[in-house]
Amino acid sequence: VRARVMEVTKSPEVSYADIGGLEEQMQEVRETVEMPLEHPDMFVDVGIEPPSGVLLYGPPGTGKTMLAKAVANETDATFIKMAGSELVHKFIGEGAKLVRDLFEVAREHEPAVIFIDEIDAIAAKRTESKTSGDAEVQRTMMQLLSEMDGFEDRGEIRIIAATNRFDMLDRAILRPGRFDRLIEVPKPDAEGRELIFQIHTRNMNVADDLDFAALAEDTENASGADIKAICTEAGMFAIRDDRTTVQRSDFEEAWEKIQAEEEDDEVSKT
Ligand code: ATP
Repeated sequence: VRARVMEVTKSPEVSYADIGGLEEQMQEVRETVEMPLEHPDMFVDVGIEPPSGVLLYGPPGTGKTMLAKAVANETDATFIKMAGSELVHKFIGEGAKLVRDLFEVAREHEPAVIFIDEIDAIAAKRTESKTSGDAEVQRTMMQLLSEMDGFEDRGEIRIIAATNRFDMLDRAILRPGRFDRLIEVPKPDAEGRELIFQIHTRNMNVADDLDFAALAEDTENASGADIKAICTEAGMFAIRDDRTTVQRSDFEEAWEKIQAEEEDDEVSKT
């Protein structure tokens, strides 16, 4: 059961250099997650407790998971990921049991970074969600908070949660000693998009005169995940055209295609 719902990776292969933009967010993650893992003694010497949990919030595909993986890579920690939706179960006690398992696996693999994606699935305001009124979901959340309270020296295990729905969260989980460090991860601005294009074309054969700043201007509102998709799709356009060099028009057509697909998705959801 564990293997199915938990992703466990020793020192995942994502580094800070793979993340475009998000300088401030990287800095904050380093201070709140990396420092306590690498220098727990400093917190003891200074006489403060490191933040308990870090919450990353922002739109889908902006690099939240990457940030958590990069910090685990940098600290040579085991990355343990679980989606909040996996913790929502029909059977009484099952969600809480999974939470206990999650922390047990983390203790077995210290140093470890626990990453809980879609935390809103178990921590939505009662009024906002069908499931949150559910006593079982409440119990699962309580178990998570009690595990977080549980460790005295949290140095070797750090907890990062992520959500696309900050507005939906039950404020109780943001209290001190819980997820008390909030980091917003927004969509990239033009400069960020330019950096992300450079990262995702690193291994691509692009035209010598490709203007990355212009590409960034052309793709307003694209997330990092969109840019990754644009690069792959642009390569497909070049192949269809029997070229081995990818040019600006390929990227532009790719973005149009991806936007059209995203619109179709929106329509089919409503
Ligand atoms: P979700 O909320 O949907 O889980 P997320 O914020 O966790 O999304 P990631 O899983 O980190 O997003 O990003 C998805 C993919 O998009 C990454 O694997 C990466 O290829 C690309 N990506 C997203 N943001 C960035 C970024 N800032 N720099 C480089 N690549 C990015």
